Amino acid sequence: MSGDPTIFEQIIAGDIPARIVYETETVAAFLDANPLAPGHTLVVPKEPYERLDEMPGDVAADLWAAVQELAPRIEAAVDADATTVGVNNGEAAGQEVPHVHVHVVPRFEGDGGGPIHAVAGDRPDLSEDELDDIADSIESGE
Ligand code: AMP
Repeated sequence: MSGDPTIFEQIIAGDIPARIVYETETVAAFLDANPLAPGHTLVVPKEPYERLDEMPGDVAADLWAAVQELAPRIEAAVDADATTVGVNNGEAAGQEVPHVHVHVVPRFEGDGGGPIHAVAGDRPDLSEDELDDIADSIESGE
């Protein structure tokens, strides 16, 4: 959280134009400049945390509350049937802007898109032992 302001900080500061649709003390949301669908919105913490785990819990709660409030509003605005909600959390996952942002992408019946399951590469073939090890590691945090 140092160095030049991220593009999203510049939007929040009013230095770069954007269609801001929501703003609180800690969170802002604006239309994506290269939308995947009409109404594609980015919901961001105002502070430039790069990854999800860097956000304090109260900011994460504010961020999710905004997503929850905005998703139905966005659907209604563009008459969507659903939304896909996702975060590219790190460069290897496709994160280009190093400032946490939740994509809210309106979805329409027959829009040709896929589910979240479509974002990863080849599915792994994991043994029971490997699954146990992974589950143990996540559970213990080690
Ligand atoms: P990601 O790949 O998850 O980091 O997504 C970054 C998103 O930011 C992309 O969907 C871009 O279209 C969007 N974006 C980049 N610059 C701007 C901008 N100036 N205003 C609005 N959205 C932007």
